[in-house]
Amino acid sequence: MKPTILVTNDDGINSPGLHALTKALRSLGNVYIIAPDREKSAAGHSVTFHHPLRAEKLNERMIQVDGTPTDCVMYGILHFLKTKPSLVASGINKGPNLGDDITYSGTVSAAIEGILHGIPSFAISVAAYAKPQFDSAARFAKIIARMLLEKTLPSETLLNINVPSIPYETIKGIEITKQGKRIYRDSIIEKTDPRGRHYYWIGGEEPTYKEEPGTDFYAIAQNKISITPVHLDLTNYPAIATIKKWKIKLK
Ligand code: MN
Repeated sequence: MKPTILVTNDDGINSPGLHALTKALRSLGNVYIIAPDREKSAAGHSVTFHHPLRAEKLNERMIQVDGTPTDCVMYGILHFLKTKPSLVASGINKGPNLGDDITYSGTVSAAIEGILHGIPSFAISVAAYAKPQFDSAARFAKIIARMLLEKTLPSETLLNINVPSIPYETIKGIEITKQGKRIYRDSIIEKTDPRGRHYYWIGGEEPTYKEEPGTDFYAIAQNKISITPVHLDLTNYPAIATIKKWKIKLK
């Protein structure tokens, strides 16, 4: 029996990256697209709790949901597919998902939702906002998807993949990496609306990163594909001993 593959993203159902991914995975199984009806980048792992969700079936294999990437994965697994898919593939995101940024990422969060349901999952992004070359990432997505259908990932672990936005033949290799450190240069821009009220826009300069070998940032800077195994336990284990020494009391 052909495996069922759930494809989603955070750039919305009309994103060319989503369709490049779907096309790449089609020969590996029955591919279903369940994706947000509009862009939901930086939605993180949010779920819709305070208003109803609407889902519109565009065809037998494609549904748009007026929610977040996490909503889409939940809707797919708990309702539409009636069964657990063999794989959740999220992307191909337009723009990188590297370092600390992954906590904001709707693309990565969809894969997080997948592994919370015990399904092998990966997030894939092309590391450029301007003229992203989805072809290279799509080609690699097929290789990874095939591998995830055959091999067993360590428990509670997803693969966060970033692919340089260059022709496939010019990619320098593949690195298994750790999450790098982003250097934020965000700022809040204050403006005034026509009625004299202030409004705010989160902006700032393009972030940079700590240039450390072995990180996702570094691999991309070397024109290599970065694969970071990401797990969900956010505990800082060495910190447990440190905080215990504080002897925090009720009174
Ligand atoms: Mn996005």
